[in-house]
Amino acid sequence: MGVYEELGLQPIINASGAVTRLGGSPWPPAVLEAYCQAARACVPLEQLQAAASRVIAQATGAEAGLVTAGAAAALTLGTAAILAGNDLGRMERLPHCDGFGNELLVARDQRNPYDHAVRAAGARLVEVGYHEPLAGSGVRCVELWEYEAACTPQTAGVLYVYRPDARPPLEAVVEWAHRRGLPVLVDAAGELPPRANLRLEAAPGADLVAFSGGKAIRGPQATGILCGRRRLVASAAMQMLDTDDFSELWEPPAELFGNERWTGLPRQGIGRGYKVSKEQIVALLAALRLFISGAYEAEQQEKCALLEGLAQILADCPVECRLHMPPEGEGLPLLEIALRGACARDALAICRRLRSGSPPIYLGHGLLPQGKLLVNPLHLDRAAMPVLAQRLREELLASGA
Ligand SMILES: *Cc1c(COP(=O)(O)O)cnc(C)c1O
Repeated sequence: MGVYEELGLQPIINASGAVTRLGGSPWPPAVLEAYCQAARACVPLEQLQAAASRVIAQATGAEAGLVTAGAAAALTLGTAAILAGNDLGRMERLPHCDGFGNELLVARDQRNPYDHAVRAAGARLVEVGYHEPLAGSGVRCVELWEYEAACTPQTAGVLYVYRPDARPPLEAVVEWAHRRGLPVLVDAAGELPPRANLRLEAAPGADLVAFSGGKAIRGPQATGILCGRRRLVASAAMQMLDTDDFSELWEPPAELFGNERWTGLPRQGIGRGYKVSKEQIVALLAALRLFISGAYEAEQQEKCALLEGLAQILADCPVECRLHMPPEGEGLPLLEIALRGACARDALAICRRLRSGSPPIYLGHGLLPQGKLLVNPLHLDRAAMPVLAQRLREELLASGA
């Protein structure tokens, strides 16, 4: 009996991809092996994070990097770093910011549920501008003068949720913010691949960038990366690491903390609840190496063949299948199944029945309101495919009849 069966759970067929709700991404064998090896010995965590910083800096072009407990944790820690810098008193007071600026400017259309992570550190988000095409009210998006107009002595920085089509472009916002002496924190959690986005920090010069480790990188689900300016990454690390030591004995590694002198050792910081284990750090680094080497691209053909096979099996169902190849040739293909007639009206119910069957099947649900099902092949293999295909056929033919 497996560990899940023992707990009364049946493993699912995951056709949704690397979503947190369903447990993240599959671990490549090398990642699992790294995780197990790391569990067999102990090392000081600040030294391990310093080594991680070196690997992340190489991969991203940033000055320094930190393995965090996910991109959301990276956003909280990055915000804490912007608010407190290397001021131990401020670190102690967070998330309360009495006496210092705590406002982060954000384009109104970039507000999203993950900005809770930014507010959790004590920041107040100040929305700027309008995205009129989105609202159907006009033609212009957020403009730089609107950032300028919202700037006050309370402004501590800028939050930017990266998309290739986000407006104004990241470069322009960074250039404006730096003229104002303000740091820019970028949420790029789900913007990998393309691999080139790892170098966001280097290219447009953002101060801190947050990535998920448990999405396309295929590291442990509860890992992420915060990379950027050394001074800020050092502050984030100080607010996350276990600091229960005598300052006479504490030797912060220079490659993570720089050579500047700290006035003391902070107490357990706001990031203490986001601690990352040695096993997670080592496994994330193993996954990052595979990701940047392009190893995952080798799966593309096989996954394409699986999805094409599925589309063929559904040929006599009331659906229209479309295979989407990944943009820029990186990442995995996606099968879009557009439901027709009665099936289209039944999309939610079809999804629900697939989830409650045996084995439970979870399809991508992002386009359900348009009557479309999505099949993400990340977790799918030759063994899962016939089961998925048969259950889907049953449901489609029953609903369409
Ligand atoms: C997934 C995601 C997050 C959260 O990432 P975790 O690694 O799960 O913490 C934050 N922001 C955006 C835009 C995301 O897509």
